[in-house]
Order: sequence, then C-alpha cells, then structure tokens
Amino acid sequence: MQMLKNYIGGELVDPVQGHYIDNVEPATGQVYSQIPESTSEDLERAISAAEAAQPEWAALSLEQRAAILTRVADTIDDHSNELAKAEAIDNGKPFMLAKNVDIYRSSANIRFFAQAITQFSSESHATGNDAINYTLRDPIGIVGCISPWNLPLYLFTWKIAPALAAGNAVIAKPSEITPMTAYLFSKICIEAGLPKGVLNILHGTGPSIGNPLTTHPKVKAISFTGGTSTGAHISRVTAGMFKKLSLELGGKNPTLVFADCDFEDTVDNVVRAAFSNQGQICLCGSRIYIERPIYDKFKAAFIEKVRELKIGDPLDADTQHGALVSKPHMEKVLSYIELAQEEGGTVLTGGKRVSLDGRCQNGFFVEPTVIEGLDNSCRTNQEEIFGPVCTIMPFDSDEEAVTLANASEYGLASSIWTSDLKRAHRVAKQIEAGIVWVNCWLLRDLRTPFGGVKSSGVGREGGLEALRFFTETKNVCIKY
Ligand code: NAD
Repeated sequence: MQMLKNYIGGELVDPVQGHYIDNVEPATGQVYSQIPESTSEDLERAISAAEAAQPEWAALSLEQRAAILTRVADTIDDHSNELAKAEAIDNGKPFMLAKNVDIYRSSANIRFFAQAITQFSSESHATGNDAINYTLRDPIGIVGCISPWNLPLYLFTWKIAPALAAGNAVIAKPSEITPMTAYLFSKICIEAGLPKGVLNILHGTGPSIGNPLTTHPKVKAISFTGGTSTGAHISRVTAGMFKKLSLELGGKNPTLVFADCDFEDTVDNVVRAAFSNQGQICLCGSRIYIERPIYDKFKAAFIEKVRELKIGDPLDADTQHGALVSKPHMEKVLSYIELAQEEGGTVLTGGKRVSLDGRCQNGFFVEPTVIEGLDNSCRTNQEEIFGPVCTIMPFDSDEEAVTLANASEYGLASSIWTSDLKRAHRVAKQIEAGIVWVNCWLLRDLRTPFGGVKSSGVGREGGLEALRFFTETKNVCIKY
C-alpha cells in the first residue's frame, strides 16, 4: 500500500503523530493508498520552514522567481501522463479529461503567474502640486491555500501559483479525498529545484489540519475553495483575527437557452456544461431554462445527446463519464434524485447507479440524469447537488428567465445562449453571478476575475486580482 507523505522544508516526511487515513479509488471502491492525518505539530514544522524560507524567496528578483516557477510548470508537463493517470485513479474522472483539462491547466496556471508577476505594476498618484503618492505591494508572508476534490491539481496550483509568484511562503492543504496529485506535485517541486520551505504541503482532514491552518496566527491570508458551509465555518473561526480571506464556494448555476440560439452548438455545449467531470465542477450548469417555443425540440435533442455519453472505466481513453468521487457523495447525489421525484419531478433519462463489468463493478458510477416538471423553488432546484443531475424548465420571456436564474442563494456562474446581441448584453448585466458566459461555457482566460456573489463566495481569483490578494498594499505619500 502506497503511503503518502507531507512536504515540509523541501523534504517528504511522515506525520509527527504517525496517523494515516485511507484513500479510496472511486472507480473500484477499493482503498489503494494512505495519507497522513496531519495535526498542529506538523503545522508548526511547516510554519518554521516557511518562516525561514520566505524572506530569501521574496528577495529574489521577479525574473529569478519566474524562472523557478516556470521550471516547476515544465516539470509538470514532463510528467503529464503520470499525473493524468493519477488524477483519474484518485478522483474517478476520465483520463482524457484529466490530461486535457486538469493537468494541462495545472502547468498553465503556474506558467501564467510566473509571467504575470513580471508584469505586475502598482499605481502612483500626483496630488495636485503638493505631493506624489505611490503604492507598494509587498508579499504578505505566510499564506494558507486550501483546495477541494473536484479539480484537485488544477485548483491547488491555481492558488499556490499566484501566492508563490507574489513572494509568499505557502502552506497548502489538498482535499483528503483526492490527495495523490498534490503528493506527486511535491516531488515535482523537489525535482524542479523549488527552494526548500517556500511551499509546504500538509495532508489531512478539515478538523485535523484545515482548522489549525486557518486559525494559526502566523498565517496571514487564507485562499479557500470548497463548500459554502466550510467557507462560512472558516469566516466564523477567523473572525477577529484580521486575516485576508478569499472564499470560492458552491454554485447552482443557471443555463438560459433562448429560442434564437444556434441550436446544435447549444445542445452540445449545454450537455458539456451540465455533465463535464460528472457534473462535479463548481461552474456546471445544473438549472437549464429553455424558451418555450423550442422547449420540446431542445428537450428531445438534449436527452439524445446525454444518452450518448459513454460511462466507463476512467482509465479507458473513450470514457466520457467516470465515477463520482466517493461513496458518501454518490449516496448524496442518489438521494437528491429520489428527492426530486418526491417533489414531483420526472426523470427523463438516467437516475440510477451503474455497475460496470470487471474491475469497476463496485465503483461509484451514476447515470447522467435529466429531470423535468419541478418548481423553481424546490430543494432540487435550490440546493447544490454537485453531481450528474440537471433539471430543465420552460420560460416565456427574458424577464422571467432572469427572475428564475436569480432566484437562488448562489451566484457563481451562468451561461446565456442566444443570437441576439442586445439581449445577451442586457441579460448578462441583469444576472446575479460573478461569471457570465455567452454562447460558450468554461472558456477561460486566466487574466479575468474569477469568483462568485451571494453564497458563492467573497473575493476574486485570477490575473491581477489574485496578485493583489496575495500582497499587502502600502501607500507612500511624499510632499514636494
Ligand atoms: P469542502 O468544503 O468539504 O472541502 C474543501 C477543502 O476544505 C478540503 O481540503 C477540506 O479538507 C477542507 N476543509 C474541510 N473542513 C475544513 C475546516 N473546518 N477548516 C479548513 N479546511 C477545511 O468541499 P469539497 O466537498 O471538497 O468540494 C466541493 C465544493 O467545492 C462544492 O461546493 C463546489 O461548488 C465547491 N467548489 C467551488 C469552486 C469555486 O471556484 N467557487 C471550485 C471548485 C469547487
């Protein structure tokens, strides 16, 4: 059985207390490795390593830091097949998705911020004829990065890269449900020559290591991506500690399909938006509103495409729909499918657990599921299911579409499908979400602000927003 290790001070080390927890392969349901259940004692070691390393790291020139980070990105690329396979085994996602999206984006994240820091500039203000002000943006010191299981290495690097580029030392905690690529990443950092202690990776659960990390007085900023209730918990336990917090939380994203959309393209992309990564992307469009004149035609075409999705072993190259990440998560998703029917919904396709032949017969597979006939206010349409389940509903006007889309406690992402440019701009402006895609979904430019409103989070990641978050601002005013 493979035993994962923490990464502290540039070394791979066992947890101080010697406790480990099981790591399960979702496609088989079998325990295949164990991960450290780190505690405050491991955190203290990481803090010491980070404190020792940070001043020297921050003192490097931007070009030197950028060069080291670029080497880390290149080393990810050198190991991309191994990492994609590890991600598929650990998470249950199709290998091809892991390779083309997760691992590709992981090195892109690091390369992007390695370059971005060399372009990061601050403002100066001439104050009449009296003075000049200029703004310094210095590293914060030690920062914490906590990531979820759905896009394990992708979201881990999305936080670590700007934090390191800005000159901080990082203590990072991947999800205990998908720890493998973070562990392989620590080996990659060693291979690429990342200075010791600049990045420390601690494995474990929220209670064992997440809580100590977020509440440690020397950790001055927390960048967190995960569930809304965990984000609320982090806000509560850090209240009064004056830490910077970036919280990227849950979503229940609306997809608005207008009668004048490019029909075939929209059907293809709405399927992708609903079911990519088995619906386990925070940006997935799970509430699909369709303008009534095309409702029946769209429904028929949509269901046909959904049924074509190939469910299979995540390691098979032609698999499009893999396993859900864990047994408890699969049970949660199946319970929502039951709830939807109790609430009056009709399952148009899917709805059941799937048992595959061979090594995957005990895996956590659930069919892509489409439900209709539900009221917008029911729990199925209001609560985040975070699985391969979407609902379809008709609407009659732009105003109604916007009202339905906005009737949610969440506000992360949304997509609008129309060929009317004026409508696209108008509806985009009215939708309560941090991200609006028009005639596309998940088309990402890493320079753009990324994050949600309402219960979907506080703060923005991406581009300069992330570099601003991971720096402390100081204004200097000089009188002439
Ligand atoms: P989660 O909140 O259970 O866990 C996320 C991370 O927080 C894990 O590393 C976990 O160990 C850690 N954690 C748990 N309790 C903690 C505590 N008390 N203190 C500190 N850390 C703690 O979320 P999850 O189930 O891993 O991920 C799914 C959720 O993430 C969904 O709600 C999804 O929408 C959301 N998500 C949001 C975005 C975004 O960008 N907004 C992106 C991906 C996922």
